Amino acid sequence: MKHLFIAILFLLLSTTVYSTEISLQVLGSGGPIADDARASSGYVIRLDGRGRILIDAGGGIFQRFGEAGLKMDDLTFVGLTHFHTDHSSDFPALMKSAYFGDKNSPLYIAGPAAEGKFPGLIDWLSALFAPGKGAYAYLSGYIDGDADPFVLMPVEIPLEEGRLSAVTSFESFSVTALPVPHGPVPSLAYMIKIGTIKIVISGDQNLSDPAFVAFVKNSDLWVMPLPIPEGAGRVARNLHALPSKIGEVAAKAGVKTLLLSHFMARSLADLDVNVALVKKQFKGQLLLAEDLQQWDLDIKAADKGWFITP
Ligand SMILES: [Zn+2]
Repeated sequence: MKHLFIAILFLLLSTTVYSTEISLQVLGSGGPIADDARASSGYVIRLDGRGRILIDAGGGIFQRFGEAGLKMDDLTFVGLTHFHTDHSSDFPALMKSAYFGDKNSPLYIAGPAAEGKFPGLIDWLSALFAPGKGAYAYLSGYIDGDADPFVLMPVEIPLEEGRLSAVTSFESFSVTALPVPHGPVPSLAYMIKIGTIKIVISGDQNLSDPAFVAFVKNSDLWVMPLPIPEGAGRVARNLHALPSKIGEVAAKAGVKTLLLSHFMARSLADLDVNVALVKKQFKGQLLLAEDLQQWDLDIKAADKGWFITP
């Protein structure tokens, strides 16, 4: 009797909490060097098959977006982690592509506030689309309201260390951002919650902020760049996390699935060694990103948060 009750409860939970099919598709698993036949950074979260959330739009994402059969009409939210070209340069091309669709609702877009050599999201969008002076002023309707109801709704994220920002929420998901240390470059990590499922996609960072451990804690999936080897020099270590540090944080935070990405020819040469260093501490499911690879959340194993290759 007790077992029957537990079985019914599990059935109810699995049909109510996990009624949405959740997938993560890698559009770009590369970095800023064009030597690896990979697009730069970009990830799409599909809900019930539709690409609703795009994190980053680096060089090459425009092409992969089409190859993946995605539609700008379906997109609800774009999160840019930072304004390095390999995370943002294809965004205007995607907006032009959207012009030929039928999107009839706003597109929410988040990005960091200004710091050092980098503009904040609002100024970055102005530099692209502002009427009369933007590089692509012919697309100004997306920011001055002429393209209403399809307009950009920017959310600029403050950069104070450890400060969580509730970015936006929709009926099926919510987004929270946290600034992450990437040398002198303002960078963000995004947490997407879909029901009880938690996905964290980090921009480039060195993992030196302890607040990130709490941010990524118990996540079902954490997407993290792995562009440098353990013996990297001081400048690279200030920008990116060492493999051993990624393993340490993933283990400490109880991450269920870790997806490593942001590879280039030089980091691919060291990949086996780097992955072994991560695995030394992290014992959960570990995946390596390839362009256009898609992982679906296995509903039956959702209590463990496992993403599986279809
Ligand atoms: Zn970067």
